[in-house]
Amino acid sequence: VSSLPGIDDALALVLDWVQPLGGEDVAVARAAGRVVAEPALAVTDLPPFDSSAMDGYAVRAADTPGELTVVGHSAAGRPETRALGAGEAIVISTGAVVPEGADAVVPIERTSGEVEVERVGPGDNVRPRGGDARTGDVIAERGDVLRPAQLGALAAAGVATVRCTRRPRVSVLATGSELRAPGEVLAPGEIYESNTVLLAAQLESAGAEVTVLEAVGDEEHATRAALEGGLQSDVLVTSGGVSVGPHDLVRAALAALGAEEIFWRVAVRPGKPIAFAVRGETLIFGLPGNPVSSLVGFELFIRPALLGLQAARDPGPPYLPGRLGAAVERNEHRDELLRARTRITDDAVVLEPLTGQESHMIVRSAAASALVLVPRGTGALAAGAPVSYLRI
Ligand code: AMP
Ligand code: MG
Repeated sequence: VSSLPGIDDALALVLDWVQPLGGEDVAVARAAGRVVAEPALAVTDLPPFDSSAMDGYAVRAADTPGELTVVGHSAAGRPETRALGAGEAIVISTGAVVPEGADAVVPIERTSGEVEVERVGPGDNVRPRGGDARTGDVIAERGDVLRPAQLGALAAAGVATVRCTRRPRVSVLATGSELRAPGEVLAPGEIYESNTVLLAAQLESAGAEVTVLEAVGDEEHATRAALEGGLQSDVLVTSGGVSVGPHDLVRAALAALGAEEIFWRVAVRPGKPIAFAVRGETLIFGLPGNPVSSLVGFELFIRPALLGLQAARDPGPPYLPGRLGAAVERNEHRDELLRARTRITDDAVVLEPLTGQESHMIVRSAAASALVLVPRGTGALAAGAPVSYLRI
């Protein structure tokens, strides 16, 4: 067992086979979560003009405090064309152009009567042109995963479309003669099929375009036919049937279809019997059927592969530092990922392992917000020990 690849070795093998996909133009309004393929540049200064930060009066700072004559009105989108002269004020609204000749804005709260203004300094309450960004500045870099604030920044800078890597097309296939869809009635020995729902949600959150294939029973021909369909995708993810039982048919079927197995089994718990294979450009992940193994295997290997296919700068997994909330026994041979709740204290994120750590216990796992990495070794890790964790 100790000769099995560890998590890092297995991930390195996967990433070796990852080739970034091609690019496509994506409307900024539809680009949430997408990975940028070419830098996106501001097409305007931001703000595009000196603009008012307040509702008030545009003035010359040197004229304040004092009595000024109101000579015009600059509203947002309706600039005052007249320049401001000595002793004059122009009514101005937030976001409106600061008129020629003015160098400050007196907020309306600080004016008494109509034009009696308090003292302001040059530049007060003015947002200078280009203060946020300049034309040609890089707003999104190659490899960025676009998040809401960055989408807002692109739109504000006048960017309508952004070149992104295309989304990986991923097929998901559940195998197992015991599987029934939720909503149907279970016959003796059957269980509800849950892994494709779980996987589809994970895959979509990693940017994939997901096709869930019709589940197949543990039957050779049906398994092979279903796999052949899935092999047309960029990535094929299978669930179940990769262990050592007589009904575990996925690996042999993949081999018969010409797939090359890169590894089978990783020194990790849960999820040891995971298989990784390739055929042509298609990456194939054979996940064990236990739902928690599936959940963990996805985060360790498939999410990084998908981010790699999209040429994200850092494919992860994005481990964070935390501290154990309770002592845990280590596994001698396998790195372990414990499901845990997180608790924030003054100086650390504390990870409280859940009761019910067995790999079929998806309901127990659903209460977890973290997967805590407990490296293999002998003896226990004490409460308070520093550990790495993944958010789930
Ligand atoms: P396997 O990896 O095929 O040996 O399956 C391991 C365990 O996971 C068995 O208890 C299966 O019934 C269960 N299982 C397999 N596939 C699924 C699935 N798609 N949804 C829920 N449980 C599954
Ligand atoms: Mg099975």
